[in-house]
Amino acid sequence: MSDYGAFTMSKYVALPKGVDEATFDRAIAEFRNIVGAEHVLHSAEALGPFLKIMIPAPIEAHAPSAAIAPASVEEVQRILAVCNHYKTPVWPVSTGKNFGYGSAAPATRGQIILDLKRMNRIIEVDPDLCTALVEPGVTYQQLYDYIKERNLPLWIDPPIPGPVAGPLGNTVERGVGYTPYGEHFLFSCGMEVVLADGQVLRTGMGAMPNSNTWQVFKWGYGPTLDGIFTQSNFGIVTKLGLWLMPAPPAYKPFVVRYPEHADIAKAIDTIRPLRIAQIIPNAGTVSNALWELAVINRRADLYPQAGPIPDTTVLDLAKKHGVGAWNVYTALYGTEETIAAHWKIVTAAFNASGGTVLTQEDVGPDDPLFNYRRDVMRGELTMREFGLYNWRGGGGSMWFSPVSQARGSETLKQMGLARRVLDKFGIDYVGLFVIGWRDMHHIIDILYDRGQPEAMAKARRCYDELLDDFAREGYGVYRTNIDFMAKVAKLYGPVKAKVNRRIKRALDPNGILAPGKSGIHG
Ligand code: ADP
Repeated sequence: MSDYGAFTMSKYVALPKGVDEATFDRAIAEFRNIVGAEHVLHSAEALGPFLKIMIPAPIEAHAPSAAIAPASVEEVQRILAVCNHYKTPVWPVSTGKNFGYGSAAPATRGQIILDLKRMNRIIEVDPDLCTALVEPGVTYQQLYDYIKERNLPLWIDPPIPGPVAGPLGNTVERGVGYTPYGEHFLFSCGMEVVLADGQVLRTGMGAMPNSNTWQVFKWGYGPTLDGIFTQSNFGIVTKLGLWLMPAPPAYKPFVVRYPEHADIAKAIDTIRPLRIAQIIPNAGTVSNALWELAVINRRADLYPQAGPIPDTTVLDLAKKHGVGAWNVYTALYGTEETIAAHWKIVTAAFNASGGTVLTQEDVGPDDPLFNYRRDVMRGELTMREFGLYNWRGGGGSMWFSPVSQARGSETLKQMGLARRVLDKFGIDYVGLFVIGWRDMHHIIDILYDRGQPEAMAKARRCYDELLDDFAREGYGVYRTNIDFMAKVAKLYGPVKAKVNRRIKRALDPNGILAPGKSGIHG
């Protein structure tokens, strides 16, 4: 059976729910008139790139009916008019690299992917105010190159798939990077949104004609609306304002390695006051030994057996490869003088907690793990972390990402909860905490072989059980993949779900925008 022939005998890979082939033919003809035939894809072959996913779900459940790539806001508006007429839903993607959360695939089968990659203008970068205004298709690489070519003293803040992903898609998903501007939504300022009825809303100061403060003051007047267009299906974001970090005169990355699994508690309790006080200002990471090992090794080379790797073996492997049971990667930013002053404070704190503080001089110039963190924490682009996908091989990955307080006892408890479920399914605890201002994003990469149906089923059940066990303790994820959106939405309670639904009905009465996104249907 082909990956997509299971549900339909139609010439289309999939059809939108409730739409017959003849109706879809008419919609496709109108889309072609709007964007040109070459930008409307619907054959199985042409849709190939959109059918590749890493999460453990059958592609049949998430196969799109077509992909349309508009070039302007006006084309987006005209596409939405056709969608309202024929009741054909669209699933917007900007750069479509949402890998461990579903790549570019829609939450439900048969949606049309609204591929915004052709809308890729960097509209403005202001080097005085350190702001940018970008379209959805702009990649981090493109923004990086733009800044370098003009020699501007500005840094960007890429997430893990940095070079290929983009700031707009990542920010509307509330993704993170690793510099002091790591919490992306916090460092955005102003959106342009095409609503389902085709109206164009500019948020904050952007609503005022002739305003030049859209990218510098977030709130505007009255209710502030930007948040409702993140992780939602209330509109299509066509422009986003960003704050960019001024390149500091000096930068000092470092790693603190801890020898024991339980040392996560000491690490977090040491980081918290430094981070809240902004002595450590960035969204650094605290990764476990298996994360470190998995970035640069294949599992079979380190541990040929199938079951969970015993804790003692993990510690042995960590020692052998010169990594800690836990590894704090963070940095100081400022001038030589301010860094020297802060360096005394941070080294005293980490030394007192039993960690070993190491700088580039200590680890040497060629430590691949240190070097890629050094790069991402100063907004450089690297795909090094994709080494994780070679750990098991077979192209399977799903991110389980609960939020934790930045408190040692809490991160220790979450580690225990995670381990219980992961061990049961024979899945490695490849885990990392991203350091928030008062929270930790606990990120576990569920790595499995997507070529093995049994491994895929296990990974799925494992995620499901993790969600339940964490929810029982009051812990929720900050983001989820297209297969679990309904379940996660439910865990956040009935009132939130009802309010979401009311807003959805008011803004998108025909339910044409990304049905099922974040569990919200029309
Ligand atoms: P990235 O490539 O940066 O990871 P994507 O383009 O894959 O980001 O977008 C991630 C998700 O965010 C999409 O699956 C979609 O649900 C949502 N999204 C992306 N772009 C938009 C947009 N312009 N407007 C509204 N939602 C969007």
